[in-house]
Amino acid sequence: MGQPVAGNPSQFMMERAFAAAGLDWRYLTLEVSPEDLPAAVAGMKAMGFHGGNFTIPHKVAVIGHLKRLTEAAELMGAVNCIFAEDDGFVGENTDGKGFVLALKEVMEPEGKKVVLLGAGGAARAIAVELGLNKVASIDVVNRDAGRGRDLANLLSQRVGIASKWIPWNGMHELPEDADLVINGTSIGLNDASAMVPVNVDTFRDSMLVADVIFNPPETAFLQAAQDAGCQTIDGLGMLVNQGAIGFKIWTGIDPDPAVMREALEEYLGI
Ligand code: NDP
Repeated sequence: MGQPVAGNPSQFMMERAFAAAGLDWRYLTLEVSPEDLPAAVAGMKAMGFHGGNFTIPHKVAVIGHLKRLTEAAELMGAVNCIFAEDDGFVGENTDGKGFVLALKEVMEPEGKKVVLLGAGGAARAIAVELGLNKVASIDVVNRDAGRGRDLANLLSQRVGIASKWIPWNGMHELPEDADLVINGTSIGLNDASAMVPVNVDTFRDSMLVADVIFNPPETAFLQAAQDAGCQTIDGLGMLVNQGAIGFKIWTGIDPDPAVMREALEEYLGI
């Protein structure tokens, strides 16, 4: 559920994965206004839904209609995935978990120094999950002071990870000892030429560089990092993995991530 939801690739990806797993299940894309959210969640319960995903503008508002939250969703203060339990729904957040799963294919997060660009919903989800996976520190680089400070405080006070907010004025200079650099902003969405304001001369080939942007997956930011010799992770892996985690929560079955990625690429025309 979301508003707007036109063009959202989740249904296409999930129904391909259901079919590949031999499950006669449906995943529906539903346009729901904020006023109708309470009735829509009650309707899901009445109709016996196993769960669902929530996107903008419902990620925070849906919390009031759930019986409990997982630890990660509670820390993030946002829910993108719910599942039925007894007489109600439990709120989970799979965005950060999807990122960490993609990360773990190339790097073990424990003990790593992280630079996170952005402090919005996606960045917050990633930061909390990296904290729960015991990274050494997270520098939160963000323009807006309120969001930047709030995330750094959450990480240091509630997740127990060394963190500080760094104001983003002009070109950001990356510290030499960063292990992992993440673009968690919306810069690059639907614009392959839009560049994140980072001084590309400060990339080191020892850094792993990731982007949350999945359309297009080959962003100017990742291209600059590759030119500097860095290994990179695109946003499609995170999107596939958050979907795979939801699929497992609802069905109890591990989906085939290759089928999901292929479906996404087909839907997005990439
Ligand atoms: P939000 O609106 O919550 O946050 C946007 C963030 O981007 C803020 O930190 C904002 O900074 C920053 N930002 C935007 N423009 C600029 C700019 N010109 N310069 C510096 N900072 C900027 O969005 P979300 O966190 O929900 O989503 C961010 C992106 O992540 C989207 O493009 C979305 O598609 C993608 N995403 C990808 C997922 C995946 O699975 N791959 C999952 C979820 C999201 P400020 O606070 O200063 O305004």
